[in-house]
Amino acid sequence: MADRFDVIIVGAGPSGSVAAANLAKYGLKTALIDKETFPRYKSCGDGITADGLAVLDKLGLGAWAEQFPAFEGLRFSSPDQTIVSIPLKTDRGQLMGRTIPRHLFDNQIAQFALQQGAKFMQGIKVNHIEYLEDGVLVKSENQQFEGQFLILAEGSNAPLAKSLGLVTDGPELMAARQYLTGDAVNDPFLEVHFQSSIIPGYNWMFPVGNGRINIGTGTFQKRIKNRELSLREELERFKSDPILRGRLDHTEPDSPIEGHPLRTQFGYSTTHSNRTLLVGDAAGLVNPFTGVGIGPGMMSGDLAAKTIQRVFDNGLINTMNLSDYTNALNQQFASARKAAQRLRKFLSSPSRLNNLFSLLKQDPTLAALLGDIFFDKKPATTAFRLETLFKVLPRL
Ligand SMILES: Cc1cc2nc3c(=O)[nH]c(=O)nc-3n(C[C@H](O)[C@H](O)[C@H](O)COP(=O)(O)OP(=O)(O)OC[C@H]3O[C@@H](n4cnc5c(N)ncnc54)[C@H](O)[C@@H]3O)c2cc1C
Repeated sequence: MADRFDVIIVGAGPSGSVAAANLAKYGLKTALIDKETFPRYKSCGDGITADGLAVLDKLGLGAWAEQFPAFEGLRFSSPDQTIVSIPLKTDRGQLMGRTIPRHLFDNQIAQFALQQGAKFMQGIKVNHIEYLEDGVLVKSENQQFEGQFLILAEGSNAPLAKSLGLVTDGPELMAARQYLTGDAVNDPFLEVHFQSSIIPGYNWMFPVGNGRINIGTGTFQKRIKNRELSLREELERFKSDPILRGRLDHTEPDSPIEGHPLRTQFGYSTTHSNRTLLVGDAAGLVNPFTGVGIGPGMMSGDLAAKTIQRVFDNGLINTMNLSDYTNALNQQFASARKAAQRLRKFLSSPSRLNNLFSLLKQDPTLAALLGDIFFDKKPATTAFRLETLFKVLPRL
């Protein structure tokens, strides 16, 4: 006989674990299943934006996060190597985010869900889902579980969502990162470099504390599939790029280069069906311009939990449809994601980026706006406000 739960969540990344913690806290019998054993590594830039930190704070984990470096500032560069620096924390007094290594971050939230009463099952790969008359049956090779509801938090490849017909396309972007350690790495600024070798896309260098940095590169997955470029080669090249002024010369890699796809296609596929909700990367919630997906994923985990709580509160388990959830996601993300796509397209030309950066150098307010958009403090729609367009368009 299968174990029976109110809600089964497949995937214990930030999106799934936030949902699990909230549902368990609320008193529902919750299963959180992951194929890996935690703490596990996840290829990522480790930048947790303010929206994700707010969800963490609401769970009661805000104090835990304070041990990790806050974003002090952002250094952007254009293809012609114009550098624009934006103070993020000290001058404007607002927390834009923190860098937290994902193996620690994800484990902390999953363990918290366990403390709240969720059954956290690790090392179990779910490979089949079936709908029953009154719920869902979730199967791995050796075990099976029954639930009233299912949350798919399985990340960007989303094979289970595909098997249910909820997702039809593959992830749009691909990125890779490596950790490096060394004495020379004590610069607290996050760096994002729009270089000719990678645009559309960018290279990054983020400090993660204790003399460790996370460097990475990301672009469209189809360029990699077409062998137009190799992320590994681009990352190796980037380490000695003049824009880094030799700062990585005395560092050593302390991880392999690891890549992972990112799904950005929110709005192009379904995020709910009768008894199933998709959250995080599985729902395509990664920002198409920046690649930021942790905060949006956590917000979706929170919204999914709220939707299911309401269904139980109202006693509508067998009749309720879950469209409330998709409506809430649309309200939060739909126009911002469309604007982010437009911004990405607009800024995929080297000459436009060069012209924009020469303008940003003279206009700190505009530079700060780009920083805010980049770290999801403001939606990309703000870039298309008339007062901004009047400033920018004549120069591009
Ligand atoms: C190189 C790179 C850099 C990035 N940098 C940033 C950044 O700095 N900031 C940011 O906000 N975002 C960043 N992102 C995006 C971010 O990593 C994702 O948006 C985020 O991980 C989404 O979380 P999630 O919980 O939806 O999915 P995931 O974190 O991918 O978690 C999915 C979980 O599901 C489990 N799983 C999958 N299939 C099964 C199965 N069949 N059975 C059981 N378990 C399963 C997996 O083991 C995994 O633990 C980056 C992505 C990449 C690739």
